[in-house]
Amino acid sequence: AIPLVVSIATERAARAGVLVKDRLALESMRTVNTVLFDKTGTLTHGEPVVSAVSPAEGWTTDRVLALAAAAESDSEHPLARAIVRAASHLELSAATDFRSSPAEGVSATVGGASVAVGGPYLLERRGLEPLPSTWDASGGTLLHVIVDGEVVGALELVDEVRAESIAAVQALHERGIQVVMITGDAEPVAQRVADAVGIDRVFAGVRPEDKSARVAQLQSEGRRVAMVGDGVNDAPALAQADVGLAIGAGTDVAIASAGVILASDDPRSVLSVIELSEASYRKMK
Ligand code: ADP
Ligand code: MG
Repeated sequence: AIPLVVSIATERAARAGVLVKDRLALESMRTVNTVLFDKTGTLTHGEPVVSAVSPAEGWTTDRVLALAAAAESDSEHPLARAIVRAASHLELSAATDFRSSPAEGVSATVGGASVAVGGPYLLERRGLEPLPSTWDASGGTLLHVIVDGEVVGALELVDEVRAESIAAVQALHERGIQVVMITGDAEPVAQRVADAVGIDRVFAGVRPEDKSARVAQLQSEGRRVAMVGDGVNDAPALAQADVGLAIGAGTDVAIASAGVILASDDPRSVLSVIELSEASYRKMK
């Protein structure tokens, strides 16, 4: 039989929108001294919007956007969906040979041309330079569009910070918990979000396969880590953390790797989990 304290805690948890998959994870939560948030979709809304398109000389905004959207049309990444949405008024050519690389971006053949869209790691691997910034960037995620080996334009995408993220970080600080952010996004974007919500420490430009190593790094510093994430990329890191929390409409992989699932995508629900953990501990004593 399930001990009474456990069923009470589970019922309370359900009411708070917290689904406990692993009871030990809930118990461990009260001893956590570090909360590691994934940036995209956790601290931010995860619904980026294209805020600027900058074509290279000889190219037009529409042409760059149409090629980028065609190449991204088979990708489920939030950045890809934003690009496709921004190009909804344009006629797109069909794309074939679609490939995606989680840290870099996507590539495809569009109308006989080889098109790639991605971030700094894509440019780095191809030995290409970013476009000289002749435009007023607003601190969002910068992607470049490459056609047949030539950089033909840049796109900027802005993903708004959730207002609740600021309150969540503040409440964690009041409990003496260190708050860290991890992201595959570039340093300047990461730092802008971190400053906006009051994050203590930032891991930026982290490749998907390196996220769990960063969790292990924090643990080797003696920290007990709860990680909050929603993406496919976060699954190994969620599993590595002392407590893995999958937030909102997380992906199936993230949900499978987490001990606790947060039904709401409000980052403050992490506090509910801590409170539940403490409450069930008090009852057990
Ligand atoms: P996060 O860790 O913040 O969730 P991701 O790991 O999903 O971010 O993506 C990190 C970076 O990889 C993006 O900022 C972008 O540079 C690049 N990237 C990933 N997927 C795509 C895509 N479909 N199109 C363009 N760039 C992408
Ligand atoms: Mg992600």
